Amino acid sequence: MNTTYFIEFTYLAASILFILGLKGMSHPESAKRGMHLAEFGMLLAIIGTLLHREIVSYEWIIAGLVIGGGVGAAMAYWVPMTAMPQRTALSHAFGAFAAALVGISEYYRHGAELGQLKMTALSFEVMLGALTTTGSLIAFAKLQGLVRGTPMTFKGQNVFNMTLLAVTLGLFVYLLFVPTSATAFYTMMGLAFVFGVMLVIPIGAADMPVVMSLLNSYAGLAAAATGFAISNNVLIIAGTLDGFSGFILSILMCRAMNRSMTNVLFGAFGSETMAAAGDGTEGVMREVSPEDVAVQLAYARQVVFVPGYGLATAQAQYAVRELANTLEDRGVSVKYAIHPVAGRMPGHMNVLLAEANVPYSALYELEQINPEFPQTDVAVVIGANDVVNPDARDNPQSPIAGMPILEVDRARSVVVLKRGKGKGFSGLENPLFYKPVTGMLYGDAKDSLVRLTQAVQQA
Ligand code: NAP
Repeated sequence: MNTTYFIEFTYLAASILFILGLKGMSHPESAKRGMHLAEFGMLLAIIGTLLHREIVSYEWIIAGLVIGGGVGAAMAYWVPMTAMPQRTALSHAFGAFAAALVGISEYYRHGAELGQLKMTALSFEVMLGALTTTGSLIAFAKLQGLVRGTPMTFKGQNVFNMTLLAVTLGLFVYLLFVPTSATAFYTMMGLAFVFGVMLVIPIGAADMPVVMSLLNSYAGLAAAATGFAISNNVLIIAGTLDGFSGFILSILMCRAMNRSMTNVLFGAFGSETMAAAGDGTEGVMREVSPEDVAVQLAYARQVVFVPGYGLATAQAQYAVRELANTLEDRGVSVKYAIHPVAGRMPGHMNVLLAEANVPYSALYELEQINPEFPQTDVAVVIGANDVVNPDARDNPQSPIAGMPILEVDRARSVVVLKRGKGKGFSGLENPLFYKPVTGMLYGDAKDSLVRLTQAVQQA
């Protein structure tokens, strides 16, 4: 088999593995296998690429592999699960910048000779690559707290952004007819970099996961365009898969929050004025002790755990499993209620609970568990806030009105584990904490769960 055939074969095998990997990742049980298949696919794609005859020297490539591999390994090893969204944002920025650089170098080398088709792909790649780079960097900075997480807005912002986009797209079209105009090419690139910043600054940190998944989709489409520009099949297939899966994921996340994509992108959700609206909290928060809660849990028939972002920050997944085991040993039926946007990334809770070997059969989706709350003796909310906020259901004025919630307030008793009076990611007050049915158990979620387990064992 000659090298060209072998390269195409590795690309085909890699593409099939990417598709199987994505399919595997659609269910928690097969997600790990899916990830491994995709990793193997990527390895094949790299091997195939390294065999290309056009490569004149390997020094720069090896240097890139060593630096990139080192940075990737360090990030995988040291970045905590809770910082996964900002880590992903950085990866998107790198990927998109790489796509933009490939496009720039292709234009620099062959600009004048490029046909209209290649020029379309190349301009598209550079435009999307550039805006995704800066957009992802701003998303990273917001999520990491390096810049203010609340929306940054100014008068006439939407008009300004639309004009910027129109001029960038105008240059894109112009270049299809006059590909030799380097000024138009580099101006379009510069404006796309600026547009990336402008696109993300008015969006609040709470909506960053949606934005990132959208940027992921842009990075994928930029990679696919790179594939067209340099005639590389695996880039076209992998980029398209990435592009569309990212887009579908953004839509699914918007649906789970009952928001439209336009509202996420242009609604400046989470701004101070919105956070002040729909307060709806009267009464007092009732503090409870671990011993009181332990008695309730030990003599309950059904307990539902509701994990949220706080479970992730406290790394309390093993502690909750421990408590569940103790309760199950006493004959209590234990279930876990999973909200699609609990935590900070899709599937966040599934991943954490899977790490602690919580059986999938014990995980219940929103639609399955909500009808069960009235028959539940104790709903234990572990570091969740927005996803159990009854205002979303009861208060049409609330900024999160209509967002589907886990209706824990319909349980016979609710215990909320959190450290203090901290708000959820939306910055809104939560009337659940003031309801007579609710008891607040303050402290780090992991510590509280350990104390509860000990107290149940003694009950
Ligand atoms: P949340 O609303 O952000 O609330 C987390 C709560 O955990 C806080 O109120 C905090 O209160 C508590 N907490 C933090 N650290 C803790 C610790 N160590 N121990 C105990 N408690 C701790 O979380 P959520 O209910 O999971 O909601 C997720 C939010 O992210 C939603 O607004 C959702 O729309 C948004 N979002 C998620 C996704 C996604 O893909 N998952 C995508 C887009 C948006 P204290 O500070 O008082 O402890």
